[in-house]
Amino acid sequence: MNEMSTPSVADHGASAERRDGGRSDGKIMDGKIMDGKALAATLRGEVAVKLRALIAAGGRVPKLVAVMVGDDPASRVYVAAKAKACHEAGLLGEAVILPGDTRAAVLAARIDALNADPEVDGILVQLPLPAHLDEGDVLARVDPEKDVDGFHALNVGRLWQGEPGLTPATPTGVVEMLRRYGVPLVGAHAVIVGRSNIVGKPMAGLLLREHATVTLCHSRTRDLEVMCRSADVLVAAIGRAGMIGPEHVREGAVVVDVGINRVDDPAVVERLFPGDKKRRARLASKGYVLTGDVDFRRVAPKAARITPVPGGVGPLTVALLLESTLIASRRRQGLTA
Ligand code: NDP
Repeated sequence: MNEMSTPSVADHGASAERRDGGRSDGKIMDGKIMDGKALAATLRGEVAVKLRALIAAGGRVPKLVAVMVGDDPASRVYVAAKAKACHEAGLLGEAVILPGDTRAAVLAARIDALNADPEVDGILVQLPLPAHLDEGDVLARVDPEKDVDGFHALNVGRLWQGEPGLTPATPTGVVEMLRRYGVPLVGAHAVIVGRSNIVGKPMAGLLLREHATVTLCHSRTRDLEVMCRSADVLVAAIGRAGMIGPEHVREGAVVVDVGINRVDDPAVVERLFPGDKKRRARLASKGYVLTGDVDFRRVAPKAARITPVPGGVGPLTVALLLESTLIASRRRQGLTA
């Protein structure tokens, strides 16, 4: 493939399928830091094994198509990362890049054609779309069986009804990480900060499916610190650099940081990373420093386990997208066993 698109998917009916690729107890590595980069490499290796099994069973190579409208530089970066991962995993891929002024009817026709193409197993619509296009209408156009982002209302409904379907990659990756690190979820209190359709809400549905007791917080939540301190598992998906501090975290909690923020204010960089020469140099050369929603330096000493940024949740998104494409393809080819 040339290039690929945005945040994506996985299959919530396929937890068992995913599990069979890991260790017999399904768990990996030890230590306080939950290493998303290493886990992503493991997951990609598992995709390669499953792909070989699919081919051996007479299946064809799964194909993913990304539809991108306009030329947003950040989207291009995501697209390129996914393209690389697709190639490395041996999947087929294609990018459909349309001009920024593409009319809704033209985009709809392209999606219809991809829906009708029997060789296409996964369709991604790169978000955000230009303002003149209705995101809801566009996402609803994608065949739910090819909706590897899991954003179609049917797949959202399937998640909440506990039925097999495709789920968004980022929260699915979080659950996969918690499971592989042996974090107990049954009966645990999971608190999620952030209620977006892409991360927070599906995160709640997925953790509920794992039998956690779930609290979903947002900008209007009262006593956020108290809510967060009651968490056994705290997931931050806010988009505010270092907002979650030690005052939000109970001693021994597991902390997952979904946030990816570009900080360009030297004072904020110094507050989050005091005396950190490497980051100061990065700020000077790149103009920004990447950081999560959690003040890692101050929170890590209290946490039993924690994800870093970068290198935590981020790398899992692409790996889960590949796996979802494989799962969608297997189902479409009637090779679900
Ligand atoms: P959104 O902006 O869509 O949602 C942010 C959520 O945080 C909202 O629900 C908002 O509440 C809530 N929020 C904002 N400020 C506060 C506050 N002060 N107190 C409590 N809640 C607050 O963001 P996304 O969900 O799309 O992304 C969240 C973060 O995750 C971003 O940093 C993003 O870059 C990152 N991300 C990372 C991915 C990965 O691959 N690792 C993939 C996708 C996102 P309200 O609804 O009330 O406005």
